[in-house]
Amino acid sequence: MPAPSPSRYAVVLFVPLARDAATPTSAIWKPAMKAACVCCGLVAFALAGCTSKPAIPSSAAAKLQPADTRLDAGEAVSSADHADDQTGGWLAPILASTQSLGETLAGMTPGDGYAPDFDPAPSGMATWSWATVGATRSDRPIRAADVTGPTVGTGKRVYLIASIHGNEPEGRRGLELIAREIEAAARASAITLRVVDDANPDGTARGSRGNSLGIDLNRNWPARNFEPAPSRGPSPLSEPETRALAADLDAFKPDLVIVLHSIASGPFVNHDGPAIAIAAAFADGAVQADKRWRVVPNMGYPTPGSLGSFLGGDQGVAVLTIEFKRGQNARSASHALSHGLPRVFEALAAPVSVPANAAAEPVDRTSR
Ligand SMILES: [Zn+2]
Repeated sequence: MPAPSPSRYAVVLFVPLARDAATPTSAIWKPAMKAACVCCGLVAFALAGCTSKPAIPSSAAAKLQPADTRLDAGEAVSSADHADDQTGGWLAPILASTQSLGETLAGMTPGDGYAPDFDPAPSGMATWSWATVGATRSDRPIRAADVTGPTVGTGKRVYLIASIHGNEPEGRRGLELIAREIEAAARASAITLRVVDDANPDGTARGSRGNSLGIDLNRNWPARNFEPAPSRGPSPLSEPETRALAADLDAFKPDLVIVLHSIASGPFVNHDGPAIAIAAAFADGAVQADKRWRVVPNMGYPTPGSLGSFLGGDQGVAVLTIEFKRGQNARSASHALSHGLPRVFEALAAPVSVPANAAAEPVDRTSR
């Protein structure tokens, strides 16, 4: 006859414990018996765990399930803002195809001294022609690039701004990873594209929302709703960064301005001016990369003196405010842009046929 398994020892040892609970004993014996049974039970269970998996009755398993579910829900709530944005989160399978791209940029954080170096190698199809359009309070250059190719100047004009808030680098980093895709989408839809890769280089260097004086460059525009405040500046365009951008925007005369931000409640796209359909086009594309993307018509809080209030609300220019999820990594941001921006360009202009072997034509900056 084989010896009883350790699991059976556990059952046998726990019978006295159950009987003890049902049968009154003296005040002296009761604690001693409980201690002995607990010790024996722990030893027996340790043996059982090493040799066989204890069988859990189906009724017990059913009782465990709600507790496990509540635990998961509690953890999800406590870290909801960033739970999905780390490499290896639920986006990891989607991002696997670009694991080799931009590892250096993806690992950077605000305030780490990152210097803009967004200069894609020549593709033979288009050229990124950079020019300095102004300087910050700390004398860092503010740059803009015309993405020029065979269809330059023939289509709608898009002005794309990254990092107007220095602690929101997600969009700029994502854009850098897919410069060629955006360039190709612009050519396919004959979009005239101008890109400011960092509108707030001082804030980027400091990892701060505002510039080196702490002034929010997205509250410093001459909108009707501008309100002077220490964080918004004493008057509209009081900052050299906003003056440089305003002059460049005025010269470019955009049909659409796209501004890349990030926020804890992202990702979503907000719109000002005649941009509802364009915002929907972006969200329709971006959901292919991340199902959370949506259109949010109202930010839910006042934004006096914002670029959207000025250009969209007052001037009637279409403005998209693209809000990435704060902390979203560069690869997931690039996926959203690579799906969303082509849809935006298509919505702006009917696609045109571009010869596959068409050569780039450098832009003549002196003609503008
Ligand atoms: Zn922002």
